[in-house]
Amino acid sequence: MVETQIIPRGIKDKRVIEAMLAVPRHLFVPEEALWSQAYSDFPLPIGEKQTISQPFIVALMTETLELKGTEKVLEIGTGSGYQTAILSMLTEKVYSIERISSLATKARKVLDSINCSNVVIKIADGTLGWPEEAPFDAILTTAAAPEIPKCYIEQLAVGGRLVIPVGDEYSQTLMKILKTKEGIIRQDMGGCRFVKLIGRYGWKAENTFSNN
Ligand code: SAM
Repeated sequence: MVETQIIPRGIKDKRVIEAMLAVPRHLFVPEEALWSQAYSDFPLPIGEKQTISQPFIVALMTETLELKGTEKVLEIGTGSGYQTAILSMLTEKVYSIERISSLATKARKVLDSINCSNVVIKIADGTLGWPEEAPFDAILTTAAAPEIPKCYIEQLAVGGRLVIPVGDEYSQTLMKILKTKEGIIRQDMGGCRFVKLIGRYGWKAENTFSNN
């Protein structure tokens, strides 16, 4: 997966590559019948109409955060816990929020089984962020928002990075936001397709759409 998909598609950060090599993605795919596809470059179902993200997009979003190892990271959308495990290998502390309790419980079990002890998972509406633990050096959202929830910018430390898919069901853009003393710098990272970020500052619960 890493040699044929991640590196050829442009991922350069050695630490991200090492983490992708180290984390066994199949363990995060709940249906054993799909394990043979776990290292292919596409999302897979994890139940509750949700997906484990495509490996390349996990690598790209992680690289965008430019983690050095000491950061406090907030992830919105734990899902299977795969992206969480990658983050856990690259930094000191990961706070992850999932709105669907059965997914959070499964993710916790797999993360414990591979000793990701620096991860805290909360079952809640992640569109509110995690104000009690802010500021965060990096925030990563694994579901698509109609617009960037203001609290993510507020809860980001100065110098911090946010990566988030923004858009509607048909067209989303992966956005990188850098928070500086002078304000916000936005960078368009290209098109993408994610499930909906559902919550007070996201989409309403009905009409889900799916992909990453
Ligand atoms: N990176 C995850 C993985 O590889 O398994 C991707 C998970 S999936 C694409 C997105 C997740 O975001 C789903 O599990 C969904 O339930 C969750 N989600 C959607 N809206 C949310 C919200 N407001 N708060 C927390 N989680 C949310």
